Amino acid sequence: MQQQVRDRSADPHGPIEGREAAVDLSTREFDDSFVRAVPGDAEAGNFVRQVPGASYSRVAPTPVAAPRLLAWSDACAGLLGLAPPRNETDPVAEILAGNRLLPSMQPYAARYGGHQFGNWAGQLGDGRAITLGELRSPQGESWELQLKGAGRTPYSRTADGRAVLRSSVREFLCSEAMHFLGVPTTRALSLVGTGEVVIRDMFYDGDPRPEAGAIVCRVAPSFVRFGNFEIHASRGEHDALRRLADYVIGKHFPALGAPSPPVYGRWFEEICRRTAVMLAHWMRVGFVHGVMNTDNMSILGLTIDYGPYGWLEGYDPSWTPNTTDLPGRRYAYGQQPQVAAWNLARLANALTALIEDIPVLEHGLEVYAEVFTSSWRRMLAEKLGLSSLERAGDDALVTDLFGILQQTETDMTLFFRRLALAGAENVEPLRPAFYSDEALSEAHRSRLVDWLTRYAARAGQEAMPPAHRVAIMNRANPKYVLRNYLAQQAIDAANEGDTSMMERLLRVLERPYEEQTEHEELAQRRPEWARNKAGCSALSCSS
Ligand code: AMP
Ligand code: MG
Repeated sequence: MQQQVRDRSADPHGPIEGREAAVDLSTREFDDSFVRAVPGDAEAGNFVRQVPGASYSRVAPTPVAAPRLLAWSDACAGLLGLAPPRNETDPVAEILAGNRLLPSMQPYAARYGGHQFGNWAGQLGDGRAITLGELRSPQGESWELQLKGAGRTPYSRTADGRAVLRSSVREFLCSEAMHFLGVPTTRALSLVGTGEVVIRDMFYDGDPRPEAGAIVCRVAPSFVRFGNFEIHASRGEHDALRRLADYVIGKHFPALGAPSPPVYGRWFEEICRRTAVMLAHWMRVGFVHGVMNTDNMSILGLTIDYGPYGWLEGYDPSWTPNTTDLPGRRYAYGQQPQVAAWNLARLANALTALIEDIPVLEHGLEVYAEVFTSSWRRMLAEKLGLSSLERAGDDALVTDLFGILQQTETDMTLFFRRLALAGAENVEPLRPAFYSDEALSEAHRSRLVDWLTRYAARAGQEAMPPAHRVAIMNRANPKYVLRNYLAQQAIDAANEGDTSMMERLLRVLERPYEEQTEHEELAQRRPEWARNKAGCSALSCSS
């Protein structure tokens, strides 16, 4: 926890936005607009049940034995106007562990359903996430604070409502890393160790083991998902569906105006647009969500629910980080844009009670396809340092490049980042991107040189000065991403009580497009020892 004890006046990163107003979380007032606006569960007991007609159930977090702050995001705290904690056992840890509720908090678990791996799964809901309330930032924005791993809720089904340290480290780091990559995402304020163990069968091989437990405090304008609407629609709860839609539009899409049939249509279109932009960013940075079930799709177009996600290392559109997904590879990198469209179609179905005009919904889905295509093209052009991909031959240039990247295992992140350094005849700068010696074979080298020659000729047609081109490329091609093996190193150390790797990764990933040569080792391709090591390449859903 160096971050807490460091002399903050000497912070090399300068003042944090809102710091002047920064105050302790315990002195803040929370709002409960969600609880007031949408129908709640009449039953107050905390036992697993179906909850017809309600959008949420009131439930308090279950206290934990010994909360300790293991990580804290200054950047996220800055958004909320929160003062940094002093040390691991700062009293704020009690709040962020769910041990202490403030008087203005009205904690609840949301009810939602979802399509999991293509099938309707019925009621799911926040089985281990509990929202504390909504905090107003110094800038006047409203942020929902939600504890993940805070204990059982009416939606926990057969599970324990807890989260393990390994998956919590992954969610904490990736939420913040994605934000700094410029990808729409939910945020993470803190990671608290519970001082309790959680039993998990990590490999689903019948060998459950005790693991350290942890709680992430997640932060977003809202954690409402497609599934919150789907559950109401599937049960014919049209009044609840409308109230939830009206609330979400009024609070999160105010520019659309007061809810009405045409506004519902424009709202769906906007969800499609935002989802498209998010997907284009995922493809740009090589992010694979791993579990794109409709209960993991944010209504605000934010990346949500970091589970068995991963980053493409060797470029391979059929790669999925999720071992549960291996049989069908439904959620593989290259499938993601189509899956998002499928998920939006499920949402459209759920909204037919509000939007009877089917062509309006179809139009939204078309907007998704158009916005995804145009955003992805623009981002690809930036990755290549071209002002557009509209010239004759551009499509073939791109198709041929991805063909070459697949022919021999080539690290997507390193290849694009280093492309700015390569020349028509100069393949050398790309060498660190290759996982196998095959890449240096005569045949592959000549394919690559051939492509680089065409690319250099195409780049030469741009009016931009070379330095400008490189700057554009470096803004589109991150140097540092949260490779699974790096996250695993942070986890292994954290499990031994050492949070320094986590802190280092957080710092470096706050500036993913900068060179940071002193951290060069965090920008290397995955080492061979990590190829098949648990947590470093593939992950299960067990968390
Ligand atoms: P996920 O795969 O994490 O998106 O979760 C799918 C569903 O299972 C959601 O309803 C979660 O709340 C629930 N769930 C996942 N893990 C747990 C857990 N440890 N305890 C209770 N519910 C859980
Ligand atoms: Mg989920």
